[in-house]
Amino acid sequence: MNFLKNASLKRRLQFFPASLIAASSLLIGLLIYVILNYSSLFDHLHQEDMQVLTKISNISSEFEQTHSKLLTLFDSSSTTPELAYPEATIHLDKIHSLKNQIGKISSDGHLELELHHSDQVINTNELTNALNDYLLTSTIAMERYFYDPASSHQIIQDQVKKSAKVNHFLTALTSSIVHQIENEMRATADETIITSVLLVILGLALVVFTIKANTGVARRVDNSLSAIRKSLLGLAKGELSVHIPAKDDTPEIKEMATALNTYKQTQVALNNTLTELSEIKSDLELRVEQRTSQLQDTNQKLIQEISQNLMSQEQLKIYQKALHSTSEAVIITSAKNRIIEVNDAYCGITGYDRNEIIGANPSKFKSGQHPAEFYQQMWEELDQTGYWKGEIWDRRKNGELYPKWLTINTVVNEQDLITNYVGVFTDISDLKSKEAELEKLAHFDPLTHLPNRMLCRERVEQKLLSAKRKNNKVALLFIDLDRFKLINDSLGHAAGDQLLKTVAERLEASLRAEDLMYPLNSHFSHTIARLGGDEFIISLSDLNSVDYIADIVERIQETIRKPINLCDREVSVDSSIGVAIYPNDGSSYETLSNHADTAMYRAKEAGRGQFALFTEEMNQQAHQRLQLEIEMKTSIKEKHFELYYQPKICTTSHNIHSFESLIRWNHPQLGLISPDDFIEIAEETGMIIQLGEWILEEACRVCLELNHKFNTKLRVAVNISTRQFQDPKLQEKIAKALKKSGLTAEHLELEITESAIFGDIEEAISIIRQISSTGVRFALDDFGTGYSSLNYLKQLPVNTLKLDRSFIAQLDQADTEDDRKIVETMILLGKQFRMQTVAEGVENTDQESILSNLGCDLLQGYLYSKPLPEKVFHDYLGNTLNTKPQKTA
Ligand code: C2E
Ligand code: CA
Ligand code: CA
Repeated sequence: MNFLKNASLKRRLQFFPASLIAASSLLIGLLIYVILNYSSLFDHLHQEDMQVLTKISNISSEFEQTHSKLLTLFDSSSTTPELAYPEATIHLDKIHSLKNQIGKISSDGHLELELHHSDQVINTNELTNALNDYLLTSTIAMERYFYDPASSHQIIQDQVKKSAKVNHFLTALTSSIVHQIENEMRATADETIITSVLLVILGLALVVFTIKANTGVARRVDNSLSAIRKSLLGLAKGELSVHIPAKDDTPEIKEMATALNTYKQTQVALNNTLTELSEIKSDLELRVEQRTSQLQDTNQKLIQEISQNLMSQEQLKIYQKALHSTSEAVIITSAKNRIIEVNDAYCGITGYDRNEIIGANPSKFKSGQHPAEFYQQMWEELDQTGYWKGEIWDRRKNGELYPKWLTINTVVNEQDLITNYVGVFTDISDLKSKEAELEKLAHFDPLTHLPNRMLCRERVEQKLLSAKRKNNKVALLFIDLDRFKLINDSLGHAAGDQLLKTVAERLEASLRAEDLMYPLNSHFSHTIARLGGDEFIISLSDLNSVDYIADIVERIQETIRKPINLCDREVSVDSSIGVAIYPNDGSSYETLSNHADTAMYRAKEAGRGQFALFTEEMNQQAHQRLQLEIEMKTSIKEKHFELYYQPKICTTSHNIHSFESLIRWNHPQLGLISPDDFIEIAEETGMIIQLGEWILEEACRVCLELNHKFNTKLRVAVNISTRQFQDPKLQEKIAKALKKSGLTAEHLELEITESAIFGDIEEAISIIRQISSTGVRFALDDFGTGYSSLNYLKQLPVNTLKLDRSFIAQLDQADTEDDRKIVETMILLGKQFRMQTVAEGVENTDQESILSNLGCDLLQGYLYSKPLPEKVFHDYLGNTLNTKPQKTA
């Protein structure tokens, strides 16, 4: 600034006041320009960096907060994993967005700043890496915490470390940006000062030059100055293409032009550098963008992998649950057939503990039931088809063998090599035993284990076929135990069952070929079956002749008859047997069994312990029986039944004491039919109920009529069959009959047999008591033929004992001391229990005197009167009531 004080300059300035003013104002303008420029540049820099700084600090504090929230979530004391999981997902998303913000900041042009501070570039990348690291660790921590909170501690620690790293980089980045802003500000300030100084110098130089110029060169100088001024103005506006004049000879102007030129060149160079820089910048931006998207891709993949892994873990859990909850046993072995997994059902069925058998070879459990070829075949099939199924026997831990239904599948890898075998099976031992049981039930009688009706039929039909071919004979024996029902009822069902079993065993024993001792065919064979109840059937096949059939049958009866101990009692059972023979009596099982059945009935009719060979006559009778059954119905409707009456005589007074009603069937074609021929049919078909009702009413009516007519108090005895006695409406029906006829209850006596009582003695007693309470009396008919026990007799509230005809018939014969004793005992028993005794079937006076001597109360029989039709009985009464009853014999 010394040259301003220079005197010549002062002088020259006087000559060029306008130039001076122009130069000064230019200088001031330049100064103002520089100051304005500086402040706006500063402002610009300041604003942008401050924004970044604010963003980074925001990110930093948000990260800090989110991290601490995550830590709280993974603390099991404050939240349950189920609740933590969704919330943690939101926080992780937040971190992810923070990471994106960092990426955005670096891609928004701040890499330019990073260029100047290479360490900052590293910071940004490392920050992104640290955030990724943190995200990954946190995701794992979150999953671990969710599935297994106990083991998540380590990974959460890890997460804390990762967060520290992120924090470190965030802090580094912040300080780096602060540092940069400081540098920027400093650099801008320096630059501006230099430019200002330069411009001030230029301005001063111009002023000095103007002052120095003399009048001669004033114009040229003026021109040059204005050219330079123009250039300066252009330069100041940033126009680098301006022309700077340099031809002027004034050294000041020359100097100025040179300075301006240098300035211009520097500016151009600077501009070039700027362009290059901006190219580098955009290249870098591109690379960063690529890098970021690559990173994001990798990240995405990583997250996908993690979630897939988590998903397969989830699936694994589901499979495990399914495996253990299925009721089928599952066993998984390695390619070398070593057990690697079994389920609970497997352990349940085999009895092994899981730990006991892992690593073992399943062949250890072999039952030894299958030959080696069986297993060989199984493995071959497995190798070829990858599949095997079938029934196989194995051994449980306790040594027990059991059948199972097994399916084996092979598992192969990508190279098609077997990696595992998966076996699934169910224990079918129950099924098997049920199958066998069913088979047995279908074909065998569960009590005696003899073949049943079905199997019997099958076998006999086979035998018949072979008999047809071989031209030999087959005999079918129908066996029915006599009075089995009575045993069953009196001694109980258990005793009945025991009896049936014993009979079955004895039948088997009686048919052992070597014991038969008859010259039978050596191929002789037999089948014994139980048809049900007390009915058995025996088929004897491959018979050359039937000459010995009667002997065999008798032998069978003898065997059955041997005493059996039942309930501490010696019981002996008779049997009735009917025989039908192929081909004589039929060629089909159907016909033969029907005929054997018919013969058996005939044997029964003949009395106990009889047998009968089927005859054609029998067949006709069987048909007749069927016919009767059909006709009985219409006969009841059309009243073809009639009651006969037989008197009972008092032993001491010889007066008519009472009378019994006995049914007859007046068949339109067959004539009078005896109750012995149809009562059973009526019982079996149930028609006895309807018929019985009529009998009751009719007997009551007749009794009242007779008593009226003859002014007597006779009592009528009505036979009540077992089926009637069990009719729940019996009491009602009795009351109805009494009411309808007007007969008083004391004049009615019901005759029941032991078989009526035995079903349920208690029940029978209660029925008798109920009916007795109305005044009706009870008589026990056919006494002595059943399995009477003193015990039950004592309890039974009956008024009368009717001694069976079979005992009376023998009484008068010389060799019947035993029968006499029996009759005597029975009469004594009656007296003991205060019961009236009646002897039925008294046919002669010898019997009469014996009975009266023994103290029997009443006598009934042909000796006094046969059963008589109503009208005839009227006459009989009329004749006898006034006199003593007539003995007809
Ligand atoms: P029951 O109750 O023992 O009857 C006595 C049977 O002996 C009667 O045979 C009778 O005619 C017969 N009788 C009586 N005195 C003599 C005699 O001195 N000598 C011989 N040989 N027989 C004599 P009936 O009438 O043929 O009856 C047979 C069986 O039929 C009866 O045996 C009874 O069990 C049953 N019955 C008869 N009428 C009825 C009835 O109205 N209802 C029911 N449910 N059964 C009846
Ligand atoms: Ca009777
Ligand atoms: Ca009787």
